[in-house]
Amino acid sequence: MIDKLLNPWIRELVPYSSARSEFSGKAEILLDANESWDGGNDGINRYPDPLAGELRKEIERVMGIPYEMTAIGNGSDEVIDLLIRMFCAQGKDSVMIERPTYGTYSVFAHISGVSVIDVPLTKSLDLDDKAMLSAIRERKPGIVFICSPNNPTGRVYSLDRILAIAEANEGITVVDEAYCDFSEDFRSAIPAIKDNPRIVVLRTFSKAYGKAGARLGILVADPRIQQVFMKVKPPYNISRPAEESGLEALRNIEKVRAHVQETIERRRDFSSFLGTLSYVQEVFSSEANFVLARVSDAKALYSYLLKRGIVVRNRSNDPLLENTLRITIGSEQEMEALKEAMYGWQG
Ligand code: PMP
Repeated sequence: MIDKLLNPWIRELVPYSSARSEFSGKAEILLDANESWDGGNDGINRYPDPLAGELRKEIERVMGIPYEMTAIGNGSDEVIDLLIRMFCAQGKDSVMIERPTYGTYSVFAHISGVSVIDVPLTKSLDLDDKAMLSAIRERKPGIVFICSPNNPTGRVYSLDRILAIAEANEGITVVDEAYCDFSEDFRSAIPAIKDNPRIVVLRTFSKAYGKAGARLGILVADPRIQQVFMKVKPPYNISRPAEESGLEALRNIEKVRAHVQETIERRRDFSSFLGTLSYVQEVFSSEANFVLARVSDAKALYSYLLKRGIVVRNRSNDPLLENTLRITIGSEQEMEALKEAMYGWQG
């Protein structure tokens, strides 16, 4: 079943066998990987663990996701890229995305010579399941990407509807849950993987866990897909400092939870503030660590803020998002500075 969905050259791939994976047991003297013998005392002269095993065990302990269902990418961006290369053939297959959504799904598809089917969201920025189901039936995409909470809208889609789409889709459905920690009462697609192994979930350390600079994305998938991913990914894609950074976050999960709670409260406060500004026409209800707002003139406000040293994201070029800015929730001082600047703008 999964086998049939894979590109044939991936199915038959003989993976690179790294030095350290060719022996088992304990060894004192490692002369197998052409590393430097001079490591100081941080061990960084050694290649990192290709399995990122310590981090995955900690993910199982803290997040409850079974070890054999996870793999780590150099950011979820690498996972997105590799999934497309695993399941879609150049010049032949397509991926399906909703618009507006996170930008790299389509960029990685284009880099791989895979076409992109765009299905616009409804006017209220919800999934248009009817249109998606008919596009799936007609075009048979290799992968359907669904981002929930969606970037840049902050909207969580109904899990039942996501699962119904995944059921109808004979290919892979990737549910990107990068922002899920900021959603209260979030229902993940992960438990559905055991009934529908064509569902793949993405998580990341870049948002709630505060480790964007470490580049750590999590693939959560049926073990058969996980095993293929492990063959396809570059052998040493996760550096040891990156793995340690992820471990640090998980071992201090209370700190992460407090950060999330603070961010949610600040998001609430900032959304209400936006509602009081006369030039703000719409504040989209967000379950992520950002807020999207429609203003009288997004370009002018963007430039005004930039002159005050504040960078936000102008999303006005996305379909359905004329005159919108996406604003990340920052620290208390950052938000105070932003509010003061926004208060002073004569939209
Ligand atoms: N998915 C979504 C929805 C995102 O918004 C982002 C980054 N902004 C990513 C994935 C990429 O995350 P990472 O840093 O793990 O590559």
